[in-house]
Amino acid sequence: MPLSSEDRPSTFPVGGGQLERGYHHLFVSDTAITELIHELGLGDQLAWLESKVGLYHDGRIWDFATPLDLLRFKPLSLWQRFRVGLWTLRLQRIADYGRFEDITAKDWLSQHMGRKAYEVLFEPLLRGKFGDHYDQVSMTWLWGKVRLRVASRGKAMQKERLGYPMGSFGEVIEVLADRIGAQGGDVHTSARVSRVLIENDRATGLEIQLGREAEPECRDYDAILATTPSYVFTQLVPPMPDEYQELLTGVSYLSAVLLILELDRPLTDKYWINIADVDMPFVGIIEHTNMIDKSLYGGSHVIYISNYPDRNSDLYHMEPGDLLELFVPHLRKLNPDFDRSWVQNIHHHRVDGAQPIISRNYSQRIPSHQTPVRGLYLANTTQIFPEDRGTNYSIRMGRQVAQMVMDEAG
Ligand SMILES: Cc1cc2nc3c(=O)[nH]c(=O)nc-3n(C[C@H](O)[C@H](O)[C@H](O)COP(=O)(O)OP(=O)(O)OC[C@H]3O[C@@H](n4cnc5c(N)ncnc54)[C@H](O)[C@@H]3O)c2cc1C
Repeated sequence: MPLSSEDRPSTFPVGGGQLERGYHHLFVSDTAITELIHELGLGDQLAWLESKVGLYHDGRIWDFATPLDLLRFKPLSLWQRFRVGLWTLRLQRIADYGRFEDITAKDWLSQHMGRKAYEVLFEPLLRGKFGDHYDQVSMTWLWGKVRLRVASRGKAMQKERLGYPMGSFGEVIEVLADRIGAQGGDVHTSARVSRVLIENDRATGLEIQLGREAEPECRDYDAILATTPSYVFTQLVPPMPDEYQELLTGVSYLSAVLLILELDRPLTDKYWINIADVDMPFVGIIEHTNMIDKSLYGGSHVIYISNYPDRNSDLYHMEPGDLLELFVPHLRKLNPDFDRSWVQNIHHHRVDGAQPIISRNYSQRIPSHQTPVRGLYLANTTQIFPEDRGTNYSIRMGRQVAQMVMDEAG
């Protein structure tokens, strides 16, 4: 699928290196992408590094990487901490997510871990990731998150390890595109599809613009696999039969807004800080250079300030300078010495369709890859379940659907 150059989740230059527009790392459980990286000959570039995770609550950053850190988390009573720990352990052992399908994370967590633990630890995180939709999110989503995070811990030391291709995820994509080219394929990275051409219920081609200044042209194809968000897909095709159309329009997405700062010194000593404070205007701080050496970025300390707002929210539309002004007083809560003069450069990226909202009984509302139009397939993040969307699962799904296309082509 061709990508538009404007909003593809790739990289941009920083201090002589390449940085992802939205922070990216891999979990140990991400085997599909890890195998692909090795297959592309980039295995020696893939580093597995210890991540330092923190939680900001009530004016301080708490270490939050290991079970011991939970036991030391004083805002909850000892009994409450024990209860959270016990249920977290239990969640890791549950392989069948069926029991979580019909209940929201809010209700399940309040019932099992207790109201206070839900309010202190989980509600700010759910609000941060899903905004006003926080109370609709299915427990299945949270179960998947807990299992993933735990799979990334080394058993003996119980510390999480995360993977990062040291040449950036952009290099992985570039080498993949080169390999496709070497085998006779064409990859167009600045192309915009405006229409899927359909004749007699069969997809026959695309109306496509191969570059910003290029005139739209029609091209014939034997099979078409769309990987756009569902709300984009519906604009490229005529209305589908009711049942399928409802699945496409029934899912809502949140965007991601990233303000990326290059600082002349570190902000904190953590790689990842979850913000459990509804008064803060961001949900996470990812201090990339607390995991990846700053020498890759000309010595800059790189932090991502992350949010997942609705596309009609003020925050989505704010200019980078205004976002920084809004954030500065709150960055001081994380480090009281922080000063605006530490900021050497600002970058700003928006990712539309960043996160589908996974609500109750989601498994019954997933569109099939094979659409009602013959020769037309769909593979996007709404079809990743019960895991949360991630590069690993897109690659796994891409392989599955490619096989499906070949099988059906005979
Ligand atoms: C802030 C953020 C952080 C993340 N962190 C991680 C992480 O740490 N690890 C991880 O594994 N995953 C992470 N993810 C998730 C990961 O980025 C996604 O799972 C992955 O990008 C999904 O890939 P995809 O190809 O299915 O969809 P997308 O990456 O959304 O690609 C869809 C593409 O379709 C293109 N498109 C849309 N309309 C058209 C059109 N009309 N014509 C042509 N092209 C079009 C878009 O430009 C886009 O490039 C993160 C996501 C975000 C937003």
